[in-house]
Amino acid sequence: MRKTVSGKLVAGSGRRVARKRKLSRKELPAYAEEVLRRLKAAYPDAHTELDFETPLQLLIATILSAQCTDKRVNMVTPELFRVFPTARDLACAEAARLEEMIRTTGFFRNKTKSLLGMSAAIVERHNGEVPRTMAELVALPGVGRKTANVVLGNALGVNDGVVVDTHVGRLSNRLGFTSETDPVKVEQVLMRLIPRDDWVIVSHLLIFHGRRICIARTPRCAECVLNDICPSSRV
Ligand code: SF4
Repeated sequence: MRKTVSGKLVAGSGRRVARKRKLSRKELPAYAEEVLRRLKAAYPDAHTELDFETPLQLLIATILSAQCTDKRVNMVTPELFRVFPTARDLACAEAARLEEMIRTTGFFRNKTKSLLGMSAAIVERHNGEVPRTMAELVALPGVGRKTANVVLGNALGVNDGVVVDTHVGRLSNRLGFTSETDPVKVEQVLMRLIPRDDWVIVSHLLIFHGRRICIARTPRCAECVLNDICPSSRV
């Protein structure tokens, strides 16, 4: 037995933390630790669902994933990576051809501009190699902090921040980590709350949970491993 975030004694598994109220600032770190522990147990293989082998491939796939499912992106990228294996190849691509190849991912004209601008900048400024710092990555056309965090954390082994996408933002609100909705502010909260070593895995866990259980319209609280501690639980 041990003490929970609510001060109640529970079994070692921590599965009976009987409270569903707003957490105080003081309680949040222990609560976040418990959430993380349970999600790690529920999703031991949580990982990015975009297929890639190199930092450049993940950068391309992440740009394509805006407003698009990872599954759809994974259908498009094998041919794209085969035809344009390097940043130099991609920078020289004909826009119309690129648009056609990525059309099914949506917003294909904007994404084509981003891919061409990003790859040209990588060639010009970084000798064709994907840079390894947040500042250099977000300076590339079409690359924001979220995309940079995905590449740094998953392809370059650099824990510089937490990826906050729609799932991470929604779950951070529902789980009571924060009431902020701005992704940058949500990221700051998570970076304060979660140990640095877990910055990459926490977003995978929240995304896995958000896609499978804590879905946007109707969360499946009855099946959720957090339903006895989550302040938004409907059961
Ligand atoms: S209990 Fe419900 S609202 Fe809370 S995390 Fe689980 S599915 Fe989401």
